[in-house]
Amino acid sequence: MAESSTTLLKPQIFDYLLVLDFEATCDNQTKLIPQEIIEFPVLKVNPVTLNVESTFHRYVCPQVHKELTPFCIELTGIIQDMVDGQPSLQEVLQEFDDWMKQEGLLNEGVKFAFVTCGDWDLKLMLPKQCAYFHIKPEDYFNQWINLKRSFSDVTSIFPQGMMPMLSQLKLKHQGRHHSGIDDCKNIANIVIELLKRGYVFKYTGRLKQPVHST
Ligand code: AMP
Ligand code: MG
Ligand code: MG
Repeated sequence: MAESSTTLLKPQIFDYLLVLDFEATCDNQTKLIPQEIIEFPVLKVNPVTLNVESTFHRYVCPQVHKELTPFCIELTGIIQDMVDGQPSLQEVLQEFDDWMKQEGLLNEGVKFAFVTCGDWDLKLMLPKQCAYFHIKPEDYFNQWINLKRSFSDVTSIFPQGMMPMLSQLKLKHQGRHHSGIDDCKNIANIVIELLKRGYVFKYTGRLKQPVHST
């Protein structure tokens, strides 16, 4: 059990909270079409023990804008060598599904929910890229928890982003901002703090209809 008082922990709806934070190709001048995921990290948080039980982490090779922009490298810390030769999104989605199975997350009766900072990752980024490449994402990506809404339930403040949430909760920022894996660790720390304050996580968003390519 993680440190400090856990007396406020409440029974949860979900057996596991899967903290996810994509990084994607970007530029400061133009909007890249398609925008493509280049880092795919997920932390499996046990809301009873407050431990991170497992990590899935892959860099993903972009297929269209193969060359990362200087802006993107500067923002994310992801350099060209980290994506060159890495699997495509389609391959990583398969590896991720294998990991979900290995972790017992797809077993009957096991309940999990993705937690993201904002709605962008699962409402826009993944569905749009999948539509562009004619990939059918697994249905488990269709619902998620926007941590900003959870945070707002607890504090009555709707936050701009991860950094304001950390400072409001007096949690130290760890690692590099906009590194997907470091963002996941910081988001997980916010999740754990809300659990310690007795928050019961619930879904905040779902896809109304899958995004289809035209
Ligand atoms: P984040 O999870 O906040 O690190 O951001 C996810 C992705 O959103 C990044 O990998 C970028 O593709 C894009 N992004 C974030 N911040 C910016 C920004 N200031 N300008 C352009 N794109 C951004
Ligand atoms: Mg993010
Ligand atoms: Mg990030």
